[in-house]
Amino acid sequence: MTPMFERVTPEILQELEKIVGEENVIPPGGDLSAYSHDETEDFVFPPEVVVKPQNAEEISAILRLAQSSSVAVTPQAARTSLSGGALPLYGGIALSIERMNRILEIDQGNLFAVVEPGVITQVLQEAVEEVGLFYPPDPSSRGSSTLGGNIAHCAGGPKALKYGVTKDWVYGLEVVLPSGEILRPGGKLLKNVAGYNLTQLFVGSEGTLGVVTKAILKLIPKPTFSKTVLVPFPDPESAATAVTKIFQAKIIPCTCEYMERAAVEAAELRKGEKFPHSDAEALLLIEVDGNEEGVLDREIEKIAEVCMECGAPDLFVALDKEKREFLWAMRRCIGEAVKKLSTYREEDTVVPRIRLPELVRAIREISNRHGIRAISYGHIGDGNIHVNLLRGDLSKEEWDQKLDPAVRDLFERTLALGGQITGEHGVGYVQRNYMSMAYPPEYLDILRKMKSVFDPKGILNPGKILPVEESF
Ligand SMILES: Cc1cc2nc3c(=O)[nH]c(=O)nc-3n(C[C@H](O)[C@H](O)[C@H](O)COP(=O)(O)OP(=O)(O)OC[C@H]3O[C@@H](n4cnc5c(N)ncnc54)[C@H](O)[C@@H]3O)c2cc1C
Repeated sequence: MTPMFERVTPEILQELEKIVGEENVIPPGGDLSAYSHDETEDFVFPPEVVVKPQNAEEISAILRLAQSSSVAVTPQAARTSLSGGALPLYGGIALSIERMNRILEIDQGNLFAVVEPGVITQVLQEAVEEVGLFYPPDPSSRGSSTLGGNIAHCAGGPKALKYGVTKDWVYGLEVVLPSGEILRPGGKLLKNVAGYNLTQLFVGSEGTLGVVTKAILKLIPKPTFSKTVLVPFPDPESAATAVTKIFQAKIIPCTCEYMERAAVEAAELRKGEKFPHSDAEALLLIEVDGNEEGVLDREIEKIAEVCMECGAPDLFVALDKEKREFLWAMRRCIGEAVKKLSTYREEDTVVPRIRLPELVRAIREISNRHGIRAISYGHIGDGNIHVNLLRGDLSKEEWDQKLDPAVRDLFERTLALGGQITGEHGVGYVQRNYMSMAYPPEYLDILRKMKSVFDPKGILNPGKILPVEESF
């Protein structure tokens, strides 16, 4: 069923200006372009108006107004979403939390940070590192994405392997519901089983249940040492096999990233620099961290042994900070580098780690069968591989015909391996119609009922997560 929304009238605009101040509104006809897209393909969905509130009370007033006038509201942060999560599909209000960007507290006694949602992830990481603490969730977009966006998508990143994803660090929230009600689930408590866990329900809810206005995030002491190696493999299957074997050797690296040759070539093209071993068919970038250097050296030796047993001819040890940062800069630029090559669709497959060799084989078979070029890279230690399907030389017509069957094929194989259709980028707009492959109707029905408890009129981030019949 297509949701019905009202337009933003001059009266509604006037009310919005009263709530946040005229200077914090971009009215219809103003420059809405930045708020019309995120980082998902080339989609453009302009809002009718942008509002930039400063606190929960203002957001509460905006949502009450939107609910009573049946206007759609799309929460937006840094708009780096790769699933179309921040796209205002139905126009309406883009609610940008960009002004709510203060670190309110770094509590060194309890090891928690209290933040507003618009704080850039890396800004918090650097602030806590100054006092010897550590906030590990590190999406590759950490220099631009926000903690609010990370919470809404339950972002992962390389360090999720040892330290967990965003949900593992969120202990309390302040959230404004579409009704305007303000909830404060959780707190600075490491244990808390008083009632349903609403804190975690909002994590990963993609801005469809409420707007996060504050978060209490756990911190830990920063590990003192880390060691990084880059390992070349003759083929993707050998690299994927080595990943499981490293864990079977009882080593838990803090990161284990995968790059196939084409991904590395794209990064080299973008950076104008060479990667060590870039002629290998697949590379693993592995890091260990801890407080005892000798232990880390022994772990690296063991990792080298395991990788060589799996076919790695050699390995490159990043001996100093400069080399380490160079390797990470290359890895972090792959997403953007691949996107520069062509129109693309990025899928975010995840499988149990032991099934990884089957997944990399399936990706190659599907790419060949459908005649679509695929470039893969990602957080392989988590079983999470980003598959970029590239339009390349295909005509628009061929691309439109081939893409959906290829994605369905990819998801069928991923699900058959015990996996899921997204590991960290979210369902958003682009994956919503594949949700019925991932779950039976009765499961989706429960999700719909949960949405309607929080948002009975469906005004908050409409058109996301749940399958719909219409297409744009
Ligand atoms: C180059 C690149 C690399 C990336 N690497 C990774 C990676 O390694 N791991 C990973 O997980 N992701 C990655 N991403 C995806 C993206 O950066 C993350 O999903 C990120 O969490 C989005 O944050 P944002 O601030 O940009 O949010 P936005 O894109 O603005 O919004 C994302 C979602 O959150 C909702 N939202 C935003 N703020 C709030 C709020 N305050 N309350 C409620 N809902 C809200 C929006 O409605 C939307 O649904 C990458 C993206 C790019 C472009």
